[in-house]
Amino acid sequence: MKVLEVEDLKVHFRSPDGLVKAVDGVSFDLNDSEILALVGESGCGKTVTVLTIMGLVKSPPAIVEGKILYKSNELTKFSKEEYRKMRGRKISMIFQEPMSSFDPLYTVGEQMIEVVKTHLQYDEKKAKELCIEMLKKVQIPLAEKRFDEYPHQMSGGMLQRIMIAMALITNPDILIADEPTTALDVTIQAQVLNLFKELQRNYKTSVIFITHDLGIVAEIAERVHVMYAGKIVERAEVGKLFSQPKHPYTKGLLESRVKREYKGKFLPYISGNVPRPTDFPSGCRFHTRCPRAMEICKSKEPKEIEIDGTKVACWLYGEGEPE
Ligand code: SF4
Repeated sequence: MKVLEVEDLKVHFRSPDGLVKAVDGVSFDLNDSEILALVGESGCGKTVTVLTIMGLVKSPPAIVEGKILYKSNELTKFSKEEYRKMRGRKISMIFQEPMSSFDPLYTVGEQMIEVVKTHLQYDEKKAKELCIEMLKKVQIPLAEKRFDEYPHQMSGGMLQRIMIAMALITNPDILIADEPTTALDVTIQAQVLNLFKELQRNYKTSVIFITHDLGIVAEIAERVHVMYAGKIVERAEVGKLFSQPKHPYTKGLLESRVKREYKGKFLPYISGNVPRPTDFPSGCRFHTRCPRAMEICKSKEPKEIEIDGTKVACWLYGEGEPE
């Protein structure tokens, strides 16, 4: 069953340099209990996509078009009040920087209780019991004591685990995780990811996991959508994306991962930079960086087609137009 359907979502912002097309015609859906990864370099539109789903992009001033359906409810038509009730209850989000996501003036317990009381109408005692139970579930040692401590008394890894606890405490249908382990040390990253996977399985939450790290995608996701310059350029099952990548951008991302055989050699990389969102190239937006670019790529945008279960938008595939 689909819990979320995003249809032709466009999120544009006016700026002195022109229209910023941060998200430019993105469609995808999220199934019950699955982990979907959105992958791409910084500035490709991943975060703006999920902030719009969360109702955190103000329109106006932003220009938002398209549909976002949560269990058939059209979210773009929600009032502020309807969004406020749903956010944190039905759809939760975990941010990249655990330290800046907490208020330094309140204890961790006070902040957790606030979430429970807002969304679940529990009394103080019942809310505290639930919070401590959640702290134990995310493996916070001495949970009762930690409950009364302030964010600055915790490590980054602990805060990120508490953030996961806060996001799941209302048992939401959808959890959006925006680079949740990027700010952590590698060893702590692995612990947090394992915990995240275990909790996701137990709670059967549907997850949109944003990352630029394909190693994490391989660990955690079932399906992957690769974004470039405000669009999805390839979508596939995780195994297929790694074994048979189709889009030259996906191939570039996979090749530029650090591998043992690169020791002592230059690391492959995708040349050039992500184009400015006020000034996307015509045709295929990747053509200025693509090693396989053809004449048609400069003028005509490729449509998405399906090959062996993978959907890809590239003139190298399908019949017809090029050559
Ligand atoms: Fe490269 Fe052309 Fe495919 Fe774009 S459409 S990725 S430029 S080959």
